Amino acid sequence: MKIVEVQNLTYSYTHKGMPIISDVSFSMDEGEIVGVLGPSGSGKSTLLRLLSGLEMPTKGSITIAGNVVANEKKFMQPEDRGVGMVFQDYALFPHMTVRENILFGLSRLPRKDRKSRLREMLELVQMEKFEKRYPHELSGGQQQRVALARALAPKPNVLLMDEPFSNLDQDLKGSIREELRMILKTANMTCIIVTHDRNDVNAICDSSIIFGEVPLSDGKCFECI
Ligand code: ATP
Ligand code: MG
Repeated sequence: MKIVEVQNLTYSYTHKGMPIISDVSFSMDEGEIVGVLGPSGSGKSTLLRLLSGLEMPTKGSITIAGNVVANEKKFMQPEDRGVGMVFQDYALFPHMTVRENILFGLSRLPRKDRKSRLREMLELVQMEKFEKRYPHELSGGQQQRVALARALAPKPNVLLMDEPFSNLDQDLKGSIREELRMILKTANMTCIIVTHDRNDVNAICDSSIIFGEVPLSDGKCFECI
């Protein structure tokens, strides 16, 4: 089954404005990691906002795990879509420990299952030793792993990441890329990663979607806009 199906998606921020997203179609298999590449202002974050339910499509439809979550007649709320988000700045809660940050994503899970899920996530991102620390006591890469664990903890159908490496230096980026791909593949997570950097896509993703004028990557190109 396709986990994500986007058909003829079109979106403008204003009623009569130019579409930012124009007739985009693509689909994703379970466990597939897709990179979205494109210059600033080309609509990458807007695509994630549409998938997560922060914006309503002007035209077209979005189906996630077999459920139509948005089309011209229907609009499913963000919390019901089973979509996880990791934003550009990770947005960890500064006054919560690693443990509390991850538990925050589990408020919808039955109480009895929360602890085992927490352990599973700490192990997945290899942060078991840091669970009592606060975000400011962690390196950039460690913070990124916690943000990832928090987003993965509710086991979303699809994980959306917007420029997840923008706060990391070049050396760290190299090791984090490999680690991220391994974590996502271990969890069999279907994931969209928005980035400016073609090397991110080459290192992590199975395929890519190109917005605007960006040289083709080695991955297959679903849709060139
Ligand atoms: P970047 O790489 O800089 O993050 P992006 O590809 O993520 O860029 P978007 O944030 O999706 O780009 O923005 C696409 C276009 O939509 C831009 O021209 C932007 O100015 C416009 N835009 C974004 N948010 C709004 C808004 N709330 N109202 C009107 N226009 C908007
Ligand atoms: Mg953006």
